[in-house]
Amino acid sequence: MNQIYDVIIIGAGASGIFAATQIKKDKSVLVIDANEKKLRKVFVSGGGRCNFTNVNASSNYYTSNNPKFCISALKSFTPNDFMEILDKKEVKYFEKQMGQMFCNSSLDVIKTLEDNLNENVSFHMKNKVMFILKKEDAFLVRTSQGLFTSKNVIVASGGKSFESLKASDIGYKIAKSFDIPIIEPRPALVGLESEEFTSLSGLSLPVKIRVNKREINDDLLFTHKGLSGPAILKASLFASNKIIINFCPTINIEEFLQSAKNKNPKMKINNILADILPKKFVDSFIEEFNISSEIANISNKIISKIASKINSYEFNITETMGYDKAEVTKGGVDTSYISSKTMETKNVPNLYFIGEVLDVTGYLGGYNLQWAWSSAFACAKDINEK
Ligand SMILES: Cc1cc2nc3c(=O)[nH]c(=O)nc-3n(C[C@H](O)[C@H](O)[C@H](O)COP(=O)(O)OP(=O)(O)OC[C@H]3O[C@@H](n4cnc5c(N)ncnc54)[C@H](O)[C@@H]3O)c2cc1C
Repeated sequence: MNQIYDVIIIGAGASGIFAATQIKKDKSVLVIDANEKKLRKVFVSGGGRCNFTNVNASSNYYTSNNPKFCISALKSFTPNDFMEILDKKEVKYFEKQMGQMFCNSSLDVIKTLEDNLNENVSFHMKNKVMFILKKEDAFLVRTSQGLFTSKNVIVASGGKSFESLKASDIGYKIAKSFDIPIIEPRPALVGLESEEFTSLSGLSLPVKIRVNKREINDDLLFTHKGLSGPAILKASLFASNKIIINFCPTINIEEFLQSAKNKNPKMKINNILADILPKKFVDSFIEEFNISSEIANISNKIISKIASKINSYEFNITETMGYDKAEVTKGGVDTSYISSKTMETKNVPNLYFIGEVLDVTGYLGGYNLQWAWSSAFACAKDINEK
């Protein structure tokens, strides 16, 4: 007879491994992952330095169909709680900006988590979960390497982004097989495709973006495929079909050009604008307006059009750069079927969902890893109390 584990965790990513470190030593735990190595997304996170939390983490920084769902878990396990875990291992970390906490290397976080795993936790790596079934009081987990049995299952299989790191939709399939609906997944914290800006590739600018009544102030990066950089990644979380970009948020371009027209009528408009914006941007972005003319010869109507293009540029979104480039998947398992205190499924006792697989998506800046830690902690606490 095969061993019956107390807990099987599907996914050796941030939430799955953290849950494994928090489950009491007297419970047998098996972690199954399709990858060869654990914590692959943590490894690449924060450009290799792991933005492991944000000290401002609260429900205000998460999107979900049920915005209050994350409150309880975030309060039970806070950014300070994670920093205490790092402190115990004397791991150095620092605040980069806006509450974003980074390590010097994501390997520091990986090593800390691995060191905190107890002997009760075993692993089956390079093993793909296909489906799970409930038979009486146990779950049968069918994988590419055979069948495993457990009393509790934690689905910590993440979202669909970065298939190259073995991301898959298995969590959504498992949810659906237990009649738990999925909030339509889509790539988020992702660049936006456009052929309009190829000549500006490599240029970065501080911008203000208006998207669905929100305002985002951060850097925008032009790439050979479209728009990226933190401002665009943040906007992608809220955008549906259009965003308004202010490429020069600190200056009212219309007033600036009118004033220049009065003071320096012989100056060329591209040279005037090159004082406040990169020349490459000016030459390419407003090329259509005969910009090498003296400003005295430019009508007020055209000045208004130039100003509007720079200060409130309407960018219509056709495509994002897709799951291959998205830091997260927005949407996921419908949280109205999950207990916000324990992450246990309301209609299937002993089945849990944690981390990104749930319809909880954090803003850019450490919020998604904090959600992985907090939701895993809530789930492990419940299992420990059983
Ligand atoms: C490039 C990049 C950078 C990021 N940087 C940051 C950052 O700095 N800060 C931040 O807060 N967030 C960051 N994120 C987001 C963050 O990494 C994720 O939100 C977080 O890892 C989610 O944790 P998780 O445990 O839910 O899923 P994951 O960490 O994705 O783990 C899921 C695991 O499930 C496994 N799996 C999937 N399908 C199967 C299957 N069928 N069978 C077996 N195993 C399976 C996968 O192999 C994976 O190991 C980044 C993401 C990316 C892609």
